[in-house]
Amino acid sequence: VVQLGMPSRSVITTCAYCGVGCSFKAELRGDELVRMVPYKDGGANEGHSCVKGRFAFGYATHPDRQLSPMVRDKITDEWQKVDWDTAINYVATRMLDIQTRHGVGAIGGITSSRTTNEEVYVVQKMIRAAFGNNNVDTCARVCHSPTGYGLKQTFGTSAGTQDFRSVAQADVILVIGANPTDGHPVFASRMKRRLREGAKLVVIDPRRIDLVRSPHIEATHHLQLAPGTNVAVVNALAHVVLTEGLYDRAFVDERCEDFDGWAEFISRPENSPEAVEEITGVPAEELRAAARLYATGGNAAIYYGLGVTEHSQGSTMVMGMANLAMVTGNIGREGVGVNPLRGQNNVQGSCDMGSFPHELPGYRHVSDDAVRTVFENMWGRPLLSEPGLRIPNMFDAAVEGTFRAIFVQGEDIAQSDPNTKHVFAALGAMELVVVQDLFLNETAKFAHVFLPGTSFLEKDGTFTNAERRINRVRPVMAPKTGKHEWQIVCEIAEAMGYPMSYQHPREIMDEIAALTPTFSGVSFEKLDKLGSVQWPCNEAAPEGTPTMHVDGFVRGKGRFVQTPFVPTRERSTRKYPLILTTGRILSQYNVGAQTRRTANVAWHSEDVLEVHPHDAEVRGISDGDEVTLASRVGATSLRAVLSDRMPVGVVYTTFHHPVTGANVVTTENSDWATNCPEYKVTAVQVGLKHPK
Ligand code: SF4
Repeated sequence: VVQLGMPSRSVITTCAYCGVGCSFKAELRGDELVRMVPYKDGGANEGHSCVKGRFAFGYATHPDRQLSPMVRDKITDEWQKVDWDTAINYVATRMLDIQTRHGVGAIGGITSSRTTNEEVYVVQKMIRAAFGNNNVDTCARVCHSPTGYGLKQTFGTSAGTQDFRSVAQADVILVIGANPTDGHPVFASRMKRRLREGAKLVVIDPRRIDLVRSPHIEATHHLQLAPGTNVAVVNALAHVVLTEGLYDRAFVDERCEDFDGWAEFISRPENSPEAVEEITGVPAEELRAAARLYATGGNAAIYYGLGVTEHSQGSTMVMGMANLAMVTGNIGREGVGVNPLRGQNNVQGSCDMGSFPHELPGYRHVSDDAVRTVFENMWGRPLLSEPGLRIPNMFDAAVEGTFRAIFVQGEDIAQSDPNTKHVFAALGAMELVVVQDLFLNETAKFAHVFLPGTSFLEKDGTFTNAERRINRVRPVMAPKTGKHEWQIVCEIAEAMGYPMSYQHPREIMDEIAALTPTFSGVSFEKLDKLGSVQWPCNEAAPEGTPTMHVDGFVRGKGRFVQTPFVPTRERSTRKYPLILTTGRILSQYNVGAQTRRTANVAWHSEDVLEVHPHDAEVRGISDGDEVTLASRVGATSLRAVLSDRMPVGVVYTTFHHPVTGANVVTTENSDWATNCPEYKVTAVQVGLKHPK
């Protein structure tokens, strides 16, 4: 509850919600947090904020917070509160026992994108050095792993190319599969400012998002494509650029490679606007006009979200956008680039910190002997050169009986991952599920040990936002649980026979900097002095790098990759004639663990299903009716809201509430390169729950 009154002190810290990474002054009266004031010198927000950062912090003191470690009683199945030593020794003993009986690879863990870089780093270090395997993954698996893959293949590094300020120099803005107004509100305000100044807007999205038509803003083109056909559209845009001679020959010649093969591929008739109109439903003339605008309208910048990545061709689409930027020379200066709008506050950081089963911190492959040697020398343990299990592989192996224990840090996989039935089966099959979280979430229903975590108000460390900006997170209050999360992880590792001792998170960052060339110039001292820095921050760029790939790409030359369109397996059928796609709303956040425990819950207390009036009429559905939503893997029910934002044949919902559970119906389909789930395309049927 926020009480009015004059604060007596303040602490500058970083929002714990989205990847914009706004800075705030947390104002306190005594030990009580009175209000969050957007910080005028915040590099990402410059004094702005949205409702979540400003008002939705009450979850940190919500009565649902669990403050004591707990172990589930084997006989009664009830939680028993225990002290920290008991909980930590129990986890370590059970992990070692399971390894003895099932092999070193039978255990693993998932890092959180809600925790600090330092907390993520120690979890992946515990898994690699104490567990002795590479079975570590992160929630980016289910959101932006295709960004990591696609941008690394084409540009050489797994991150967005610009800083947010750069949008002020853009003349043409492509928003693809993103809804910044709801998902990244403070960045959306920057973008809208530029659009009101006259920049042109192209939206590529099956849904008519607010940006398409909002006060003083009208998209020049809204390419309202059929869900699952992004790659066909981006190929058509590149086809027009190439065949009409609108490309930047000098940039391509000097800065890129593999152009000729790609040019032959992209000019094929199947990539022509006329052919792509058949696939996507977007008129060929609209495709041509949008391509001409992007190629000739001045600085052109791409901003994209999960509507790009959460597809069976998510990685292909990321590479398709990179091709488009390279062929038009829209990379390496302000106002251009390929920019993922990353979801969680520290999803960029969790990836940077080596949370992938194939990559050590700094995106270096585990099979690279020289890199591994550096880590082995610092960590004092031999490391495996084979990649470990991704999250979906862990689930499959658990069902098969070969993966027996998991450490889950701040991630509600039972609610957030697709094909709920399969996830439940996997969690139910494991011998040991350890959950480190603020709340007894859906995953904790399957847990054997619960380790209470800390909110962002109790943390000391760093978050990295979508523009690679490393922000300080400073403690506003002492940990309510009596221990920091990094301390808990270090103590588990130590109890397993691998000491990890740090006195303060700054020492963890020093170790990260010593091991990771892109972070070698980062320290708490520098962050406190400069406010924030964008990586790479090293000898070559001691104050960080706002714009990447300026003189050359990180991989040397930018690489054109051929991106053939392959239709998703998920098609509408007679039984499941509609396509479901998903998104978020401004006042809630992801699975809602935080926002559902704040005043925001009163604003949007349920997930609803948007149904086109035509689809509703043929099913006898009226606005507000309760409907069933079913796919081939599961069924749920929720309230229908009639809306023509979606085209006929497409329905839309959010996934903020466990009761309605959109992921009950999403399937096992996933991106070919990264296994990122295809949340955005599910064939469904919709009908009245109580026929009239
Ligand atoms: Fe927090 Fe994102 Fe809102 Fe900024 S835009 S206040 S980071 S939720």
